[in-house]
Amino acid sequence: MSVLVYIEHAEGQIKKTSLEAISFAQALSAKTGEGDVVALALGTIEHSALAVAGTAGASKVLHVHDERLSAGVIQAHASAVAQAFAKVGAKTLVLAKSSLGDAVAARLAIKLNAGLVSNVVELPHTDGDYLVKRSIYTGKAFAETVLTTENKILAVKKNAIELKTDGENAPVEDLAVSLEESDFASKITSTDRATGDVLLPEADVVVSGGRGLKGPENWGMVEDMAKTLGAATGCSKPVSDIGWRPHHEHVGQTGVKVAPSLYIAIGISGAIQHLAGVNSSKCIVVINKDPEAPFFKAADYGIVGDAFEVVPKLTEAFKAEL
Ligand code: FAD
Repeated sequence: MSVLVYIEHAEGQIKKTSLEAISFAQALSAKTGEGDVVALALGTIEHSALAVAGTAGASKVLHVHDERLSAGVIQAHASAVAQAFAKVGAKTLVLAKSSLGDAVAARLAIKLNAGLVSNVVELPHTDGDYLVKRSIYTGKAFAETVLTTENKILAVKKNAIELKTDGENAPVEDLAVSLEESDFASKITSTDRATGDVLLPEADVVVSGGRGLKGPENWGMVEDMAKTLGAATGCSKPVSDIGWRPHHEHVGQTGVKVAPSLYIAIGISGAIQHLAGVNSSKCIVVINKDPEAPFFKAADYGIVGDAFEVVPKLTEAFKAEL
């Protein structure tokens, strides 16, 4: 028996959220005795990049090297994962919560007759009922779900578990699956990649600016800090509404929800709708000249000061350290 982990990759590398899913699966298996953790990758990616799954806790990686799967076609992915699930004799499938992951998991729940919980925040309780805790209402509350099915699917929330990095690289084996034409009934014909070096939803560090920055001409210091930290840039809603920044950078309830290790908010008041998109961040740093700004209540660290003085100094300090 094994725990199967469906992993996603981008630009030739396993996504960090999928590595976290592997670490989650390993901790789960240590608790339930479900055996090895086997990772499954679909589409074109080098075996050397897949071997890294071992550092997070996978003992083996299965690779379905069919180029048609690189586009993330939901039906085809669900079909391939279901076949791998049967092949390794798994009862539990773990994956990272994502838009693709949720869509694939929903289909798999039907195919595998499995109970599915998405946005899982911690290892399930398995003494007695199989009890899974998940985050709801954009992180404002938690729900507990009891799974009663033999097969189970857990989609793990980003940053829910510490990523393990101390394992050895894992062996990678090709896996053949049988896919029908009907599995490719819908096709992604083009993808418009958002601009910027680091994609906001994936970023481990985000530097975000609000209306306190006064105008688009002042974003140079935000970008300079972001570049220094290898971060993505974000912004509050009004900033994108006025056209100071592109809409895909808008963070919050009605924009992108981020969960980086570090979120730096500059000149953002911290309205509840903005916080709804950032409150899963591990560490929040707020720079605001108003000591009463609501964002300070949600901050791990706060700097009360004028962004135009603080940000360049902080960036210089980062440059000196990094
Ligand atoms: P402001 O509220 O104007 O705050 C600017 C901040 O900058 C202030 O705290 C000020 O003290 C500080 N400041 C000014 N000058 C300086 C300086 N020199 N140095 C340092 N600090 C300075 N908002 C979102 O962001 N995301 C959403 O998804 C979102 N969804 C919404 C959905 C709905 C239905 C509604 C009604 C609103 C939504 N909003 C959203 C808007 C939200 O309510 C706030 O209006 C918005 O977040 C405020 O943006 P801001 O903090 O940039 O601007």
